[in-house]
Amino acid sequence: MQQLIRQFIDNRWVESAGQRRLPVIDPYHQRQIAEVTAGDAADVDAAVAAARRALPGWQASGGARRGDALAAFADALAARRGELIHLSSTNNGKVLAEAAIDLDDAIACYRYYADQARDLDERQGSAVSVAMSGIEARCYHDPVGVVGLITPWNFPLVTSAWKLAPALAAGCTVVLKPSEVTPLPEQALAEIALEIGLPSGVLNLLNGDGEGIGAPLSQHPDIDKVSFTGSNRVGEAVMAAAAERTVGVSLELGGKSPILVMEDTDPEQAADWVMAGIYFNAGQICSATSRLLVHEAVADALYAALGKRIDALVLGNPLSEQTDMGPLANARQRETVNGYLALAEQEGLRVVRDARHCQLPPHGYFVAPTLYRDVPLTSRLWKEEIFGPVLCGHSVANEQEAILLANDSEFGLAATVISGDSDRARRIGRELRAGSIWFNTEQLVLPETGWGGFKRSGIGRELGPWGLASYLEVKHVIGPSLD
Ligand code: NAD
Repeated sequence: MQQLIRQFIDNRWVESAGQRRLPVIDPYHQRQIAEVTAGDAADVDAAVAAARRALPGWQASGGARRGDALAAFADALAARRGELIHLSSTNNGKVLAEAAIDLDDAIACYRYYADQARDLDERQGSAVSVAMSGIEARCYHDPVGVVGLITPWNFPLVTSAWKLAPALAAGCTVVLKPSEVTPLPEQALAEIALEIGLPSGVLNLLNGDGEGIGAPLSQHPDIDKVSFTGSNRVGEAVMAAAAERTVGVSLELGGKSPILVMEDTDPEQAADWVMAGIYFNAGQICSATSRLLVHEAVADALYAALGKRIDALVLGNPLSEQTDMGPLANARQRETVNGYLALAEQEGLRVVRDARHCQLPPHGYFVAPTLYRDVPLTSRLWKEEIFGPVLCGHSVANEQEAILLANDSEFGLAATVISGDSDRARRIGRELRAGSIWFNTEQLVLPETGWGGFKRSGIGRELGPWGLASYLEVKHVIGPSLD
């Protein structure tokens, strides 16, 4: 069993001040595979102090040097590819092919911000065109400072990459707190920091839970910004703590995203995209398209195509190449999802597929891929984020109704539109209030395009130039022009 009872502070693995230990569970075998320290506020103080000491040097090192470090990060992750895919799969329960996609997304993100960091040097001091004669204005970008990064358990290497890469590119120094549920893959980031010679204190990694590390980190008086991905409940607490000190937050929170299937669609093709939008990662995706709005003319054909595909899914050991869907990542999440399934039974929801149609493996935190149709708009299953392999369908009579219902949610993270007419799909997409809209494709996540939500799905954007901007302060230097 792996023992991870240390914290990474100032480029050293040090004993935690905390005495509590947290078990790390393999969700397929339901057994403990490691133990992490439950760090506490003293660890946070030490890590923040190290990051503060490192800040001037890292800021002064310049974008080119930081870009080289990020490229080295990407290379080092690629060199550990096999090991990290295996570890993510074991710790999270995601199947190998999905763990590989995650790792490749993370590597692409480090490479993208390596280039962005290098470009930053050229952008420093660019002239701003002003109407006032005899006056010049120049624009500079300074790092926000010491930042706290808090990540969830569903895509550990990806969510940390989306924060760490732009933060380091910007010249910020970092205290990273992985989820206590899946801390194992992110430990590699600290090992890589040592391997590539990242200066001491630039990246600090603290193991522990929300109470021990997350809360003291987000409340720390010497943190300049917190970037948080996780639940709305905790995101609101992080924001309240930031408000006490008037520091910035980026929040990537929950979702209840729609997928719209129009009447001019081939139901077989549409079914593939619907499946990928909800059963990938056993539905534990913030952007899961968990509300299916299907035109009544193709509804029966689509449900038949989905039923066939669900029946063909192989549930089992995530480390087996044959497996399509692994267990949920932890017992608590399975309990939450099962609570919704019990509610569906009470409400008498119309089942297309559920556990009665599926042989669950003998162990592991599995939930059967579940599909309900004609779900009332008042049902909690229609309105609330379930974060599991549960799809709710509702038929619509026309495009306007589909758009209206798609936007009728407190969330606005993502959406997908499927139509035989790409112009129409794109036009419908423009009507939807969400940060990422896909049409006639699966959920593509590209480092160049922004990620983040409208409404209660969050504040700010990750990825693309917006991700970098969220770790930069904009500064203008204004005075008489020299010519
Ligand atoms: P969570 O909110 O329980 O935990 C997220 C992180 O916050 C963990 O590291 C946890 O230890 C820490 N934390 C817990 N209490 C804290 C506190 N009081 N102060 C500070 N930190 C604290 O979320 P989760 O269960 O790990 O993840 C699932 C949620 O994440 C879902 O709601 C999902 O939609 C969301 N999510 C959103 C995105 C996105 O991009 N919008 C991506 C992934 C996950």
